[in-house]
Amino acid sequence: MHFDKSEKVKRLEQRVIAFMDEHVYPNERAFEHQLNQQESRWSEVPSIMEEMKAKAKEEGLWNLFLPDEEYGAGLTNLEYAPLCELMGRSMIGPEVFNCNAPDTGNMELLARYGTKKQKEEWLVPLLNGEIRSCFSMTEPEVASSDATNIEGEIRREADEYIINGTKWWSSGAGDPRCKVAIFMGKTDPDAPRHEQQSMILVPLDTPGVHIKRMLPVFGYDHAPHGHAEIDFRNVRVPADHIIWGEGKGFAIAQGRLGPGRIHHCMRLIGAAERALEDLCKRVQNREAFHRPLAEQGVIREWIADSRIEIEQARLLTLKAAYMMDTVGSKMAKTEIAMIKVVAPNIALKVIDRAIQAHGAAGVSDDFTLAAQWANSRTLRLADGPDEVHRRQVAKLELSKYKE
Ligand SMILES: Cc1cc2nc3c(=O)[nH]c(=O)nc-3n(C[C@H](O)[C@H](O)[C@H](O)COP(=O)(O)OP(=O)(O)OC[C@H]3O[C@@H](n4cnc5c(N)ncnc54)[C@H](O)[C@@H]3O)c2cc1C
Repeated sequence: MHFDKSEKVKRLEQRVIAFMDEHVYPNERAFEHQLNQQESRWSEVPSIMEEMKAKAKEEGLWNLFLPDEEYGAGLTNLEYAPLCELMGRSMIGPEVFNCNAPDTGNMELLARYGTKKQKEEWLVPLLNGEIRSCFSMTEPEVASSDATNIEGEIRREADEYIINGTKWWSSGAGDPRCKVAIFMGKTDPDAPRHEQQSMILVPLDTPGVHIKRMLPVFGYDHAPHGHAEIDFRNVRVPADHIIWGEGKGFAIAQGRLGPGRIHHCMRLIGAAERALEDLCKRVQNREAFHRPLAEQGVIREWIADSRIEIEQARLLTLKAAYMMDTVGSKMAKTEIAMIKVVAPNIALKVIDRAIQAHGAAGVSDDFTLAAQWANSRTLRLADGPDEVHRRQVAKLELSKYKE
């Protein structure tokens, strides 16, 4: 297993670092400021975002996440890892490079399973960064960490499908550019357990689609992207909006979540790295009880533990990425499950230490720590709670010793 970076990746890495320094970090505040100046935080996308996107696209730092050579940059997961990590250092970073969730997962899904027509209509504008999308699987009424519980209905009638159900936590649905949802629901409740579900494309302007409310995360609205509760009531879409075919929803979900999960882990490592950097800078410049905070043993221990944990998490991320590239997501499922538990938990620990070392400033919005902590905390739930991934790891471990 070699994790050496090729010359191509090293060059890309330098370019992403330079771009983050020149355009992204300096505009984090401007982005929030523009949002606050608008009539509503949901009415528009700050122009600064579109300006940064245009520059990233012009420089070829665009769609780096997509291994598909026809549609994306053609990088492997291992090659993309250090780049994704850099983007994850900023809450606004991933979108600037058109590498943000859930659009990346949706683009992968369409590239892999979409028809020619679906690709033309939805994938191409998504790849161009012209529109946004959301993924509507989770439902308020059922334990959605077990996707077989999903009750949303997709019923065929002549040459249409009729969709009914309530979804929540559809990330990205608040964005005025969000034009389409990938809805997961049941086409046949009587089929075998993993063949009941299907996925279907639902344009958000279809009659019957109603965004009920936006859900905050510890008080952060994540505007203009946000997380929506959406009602789908007798929504009719043409039959050719189904993705790959009836009964394929579960199989697609497994395919979609593999890369999606590891991308989250890469970004979380970036968020942890930035927090550690902030911590180290802060403690060298402040004195308490006649010496710099950096000279307090406990703070040195926090720094050392943070570095150790980040390195461990990065190595496991790279191993999972390497396996996805070489033996496929299915064979790498235990590594993906393991890193999906490790990455948010270490990011939370490192960010928490950085918050503590900053004193009260750490919980304010003068630094990105509080927002990054809140975001990292959601990733112990989103794309599968820790316990579900641990279940997967334990299952495989036990299977080794079956008599
Ligand atoms: C910020 C954010 C963004 C999200 N974005 C999206 C999105 O874009 N699209 C989408 O469809 N969903 C999204 N989600 C939803 C997310 O994927 C679900 O919340 C997650 O799958 C868990 O489902 P649930 O909330 O129904 O929890 P439940 O299924 O009700 O589970 C509750 C808890 O039970 C425990 N549990 C579950 N199974 C087991 C087990 N086997 N063993 C032990 N304990 C267990 C876990 O602790 C779990 O947290 C998002 C969530 C958040 C917070």
